[in-house]
Amino acid sequence: MKILIADDDPSARLLLKSALADWGYDVVAVPDGIAAWEALRRTDAPPLALLDWLMPGLDGVEVCRKVRQESEAPFMYLVLLTGKAETQDVIQGIESGADDYVSKPFDMQELRVRLRAGQRIAELHRALLDQATHDSLTGVWNRRAVVEILERELARAVRGDHPVGVIMVDVDHFKRLNDTLGHADGDAALREVSRRVNLALRPSDSLGRYGGEEFLIVVPGGDHSSLASIAERVRQVIAEAEVTTPAGRTLMTVSLGAAIHQGPSERADGLIKRADDALYQAKRDGRNCVKLSTSASDPISRELIREEKAAPAGASESCR
Ligand SMILES: [Mg+2]
Repeated sequence: MKILIADDDPSARLLLKSALADWGYDVVAVPDGIAAWEALRRTDAPPLALLDWLMPGLDGVEVCRKVRQESEAPFMYLVLLTGKAETQDVIQGIESGADDYVSKPFDMQELRVRLRAGQRIAELHRALLDQATHDSLTGVWNRRAVVEILERELARAVRGDHPVGVIMVDVDHFKRLNDTLGHADGDAALREVSRRVNLALRPSDSLGRYGGEEFLIVVPGGDHSSLASIAERVRQVIAEAEVTTPAGRTLMTVSLGAAIHQGPSERADGLIKRADDALYQAKRDGRNCVKLSTSASDPISRELIREEKAAPAGASESCR
């Protein structure tokens, strides 16, 4: 498990680093509170941290407070290292958001078992969070989690002025498939669809199961043409090969609708709605195809639509 050590004393840092590495931790060591906060504010922060109380910049207590109030990381087990052992100090440390404290000079064996206890809690928390945020059938994000990801990306997009796109994916004629194959095979087919869709995406894209056979992809950055080409890649990766289920092999296709965020006034639900409208257009146009949202206020997609009319054979825009 990854662990952060923050201590301004180089010899203490070195000692802790080698001990924790010996105990099997993957150690990141920093010399002050500001660097600790930088490491802990991120969504991929280490789930365990050992923070010296007295450090320049931000002290350990302030780091704990900031982590509890502002970090994007889902959970962190924070241990304060302190020369202070008065009850009042301990209360202040725990109140700031620390989970535990170890007094200096510390006993290495005590530190080891306290960190093990922290690790157990961090692992349990991660397992619960996994369960709460993932779709149990397919293993991709569940609806609430993928919408939260979209909302975070939209907030970031508004701050940084970069676009965010969404793609709605719906399995064509899924009900018929479910009825002919049976539900167990319908489930297997959905698992295979999400596995393949994931292969077609970039690490920065997020895939979630939005409803029964409907998936939502959040695509940060890019423009209409890159969004359309990701959607087209997804379409192809499903249509190009039969899906194997326990009942046998079957051809499947998906229809897709895509839309790009149009600025601060558009919220997640509005963006999803436009992608959904485009998806229904794809269904009406014969399925197994990609449609981009054709909002009149969007000059780029108007342009794409004109191109489409000029060259109707364009793969990403034609329906089969
Ligand atoms: Mg210190």
